[in-house]
Amino acid sequence: MIRQGPVIDRDTVYRGPDEAGHVFLTFDDGPDPRFTPQILDILAQASAYATFFLVGKDAIRFPSLVRRIAQEGHEVANHTWSHCHPWTISSRVARQEVSCASAALSDILGRSPRYFRPPYGRLRRSMMDKARELGQTVVMWSLSAVDWGPWGGPARIARRLRSAKVGDIVLLHDACRGHNRPWETVRVLAGFLSELHYQNLIPSLFEKTTVGAEKAAMIPEGHADRAEELPKNARTFSSRSGQSES
Ligand SMILES: [Zn+2]
Repeated sequence: MIRQGPVIDRDTVYRGPDEAGHVFLTFDDGPDPRFTPQILDILAQASAYATFFLVGKDAIRFPSLVRRIAQEGHEVANHTWSHCHPWTISSRVARQEVSCASAALSDILGRSPRYFRPPYGRLRRSMMDKARELGQTVVMWSLSAVDWGPWGGPARIARRLRSAKVGDIVLLHDACRGHNRPWETVRVLAGFLSELHYQNLIPSLFEKTTVGAEKAAMIPEGHADRAEELPKNARTFSSRSGQSES
C-alpha cells in the first residue's frame, strides 16, 4: 500500500497540514556519499528543503556529509543506529537503537535530532517511547515513492510522485540499503521538484514549535544570524506533538 491513513497514533505524524501549500520531502537511510551529495545539489538548485532520516552508524562514518545536510538548511533526523527491523530485536536493544543514533547525531551537530522514523515504518512501542523521551516526534509518511525493489523504476517512481498533494509527507531514499534504488530517485528528483513548483507546492521542513513562534520556526537552528538570507520557502509548520500535553 502506498498511501496511509491520516493519523493512527495521536502523537505520530503522518501528514502535514493542508492549508499552507507545503509538502514535506523526507529522505531515509543515508548518509551515502554516492547519492546524498547529488540529492543535496538538486535540492539546492530548486531552493527546496527536506528532512533526512539518517542511520547513526553511517552518520559517524561520514560526519562531514551530515554537517553539509544541516548547513544547507535541511533537517537531520533519527532513523536508528543500525536500521534493524524493529520487530526482530529486544525492547532494550530497540531503545538503544534510538538513543545511540540520537547521541551520534548530537555529537556531530551539537544539537539533538527532533524527529524519529522507525526502519521499515514499523512502529514499536519501546522505540516510540524512547524517541519521545528524547523529545523526538515520530514522523511517518503519507506518500511513498517506492524507490526500491522491482517496482522502483524511474517511470513508476515519477508517476507516484506526480500524485503528491498539499500536506503530503513524501518518503524517498538517498542510500543503498536492502532493495533501495537511490540512483533512480536521483534521476526523477529534479522533474518532481519542477512539478511541485508549477503546482505552487513548497517543499518545506517540519518544525516543532508553537504556532505563535512562526518567525522563529522559519530560521533553521544554528542559522539565526543569517535569517534574512533565507529564501521565502524555508518555512516550517507546527507538528502535532507541539500541541500535546507533554
Ligand atoms: Zn529506512
